[in-house]
Amino acid sequence: MSLRRAIFPGSFDPLTNGHLDIIKRSLPLFDEIIIAVLNNPEKNPMFSVEERCALIRQILPEIKNGECDLVVDSFSGLTADFARKRKATAIVRGIRAVSDYEYELRMALMNRRLEPSIETVFLMAAEEYSYVSSNLMKQVFTLGGRVEGLVPTLVEAKMREKLK
Ligand code: ADP
Repeated sequence: MSLRRAIFPGSFDPLTNGHLDIIKRSLPLFDEIIIAVLNNPEKNPMFSVEERCALIRQILPEIKNGECDLVVDSFSGLTADFARKRKATAIVRGIRAVSDYEYELRMALMNRRLEPSIETVFLMAAEEYSYVSSNLMKQVFTLGGRVEGLVPTLVEAKMREKLK
């Protein structure tokens, strides 16, 4: 049987408990999941791609469970190209609310057109993280608000270091 390999692409600037929730839900569905950190020069990130990958690599062992392998990698350019190069058959995306749906639908249909053999798989976020986004976490934290319980402890510590 061929390997069921998926990519979970995103900016992950930084990784939140919402991302972790989606990864946990993907574990029983695939043999290997590549957490694919997008190197997007247009965005002004808080963490470099290398820092984001290193953070994710440190946190993933906490959620590793069962047979599924978790791999962290970075990419630039088209998600569909990266997925094809890595021989993935699925792209995992999280849906938080109806507001995510329109954008995600457009991306999924475009990716299907670019690479018809790859399916986008949508997973619903846990309700308690449905309002959590990396951007909101950065905004709140930068203004002195608490993000405890919404991002991994290590992420919170690294955000604190960035603000110093
Ligand atoms: P992008 O910059 O591509 O939106 P993100 O790093 O913000 O990348 O998110 C990557 C994926 O994780 C997206 O599919 C997004 O919908 C999903 N995601 C982000 N936050 C959450 C959350 N709190 N719950 C569920 N899914 C989430």
